[in-house]
Amino acid sequence: MSGKNVLFIGAHPDDIELGCGATMIKEIDNGNRVVSVVLSRGMSGGEETRMVETCSALSLLGCRRIFCLDFDDTRLDFFLDKIILAIENIIVKDITPSGELHRVYTMQKDDRHQDHRAVYYASIVACRGAHDIFCYEVPSSLEYAVPQVYSIINESCLERKIMALQLHTSQSHRPYMQPEQIRVMAQFRGRMAGNYQYAEAFFIHKMVLQA
Ligand SMILES: [Zn+2]
Repeated sequence: MSGKNVLFIGAHPDDIELGCGATMIKEIDNGNRVVSVVLSRGMSGGEETRMVETCSALSLLGCRRIFCLDFDDTRLDFFLDKIILAIENIIVKDITPSGELHRVYTMQKDDRHQDHRAVYYASIVACRGAHDIFCYEVPSSLEYAVPQVYSIINESCLERKIMALQLHTSQSHRPYMQPEQIRVMAQFRGRMAGNYQYAEAFFIHKMVLQA
């Protein structure tokens, strides 16, 4: 079967879109099979609203397989064992039957939000069989975290990422959801990567080089 299995994991509705929405478009355009897992429904704006928003946003990015789980927002670190099990179950039942898990995009540990750190710690256990585990940045990532990997993105991918984030209408008051902030961050990472217009940045937990 052609294409590789790629898993995206986020704590809340909007984390995946913010951190690696444009990279998700690229993975799908490359013919890979993409699955998204959102661990909590979020509280601000109403749980159902936020779940519908993230399903719409991830669908706009091209993701057709989305798992919205129901762990308690802000308390994910109390349920690490159950979160590991839940991610492992999705991998075993819904991903590896079509081939090995190639790459994972998850949250990173240098983050001020306890839920985001919990997602990192659960992911590196549950996804230990993956070749690559890359961690994406979000607005609560700590400023001293220095990324090592850049995904170069073009204008049309950035536009779709911004459109997807605008579907999170319950979060539209937040400064980091504004199109100009998303564009500036992509420009900054593009500059850091070299002479590129836009990029998304990642931290390596694990990367396997293959012949
Ligand atoms: Zn979050």
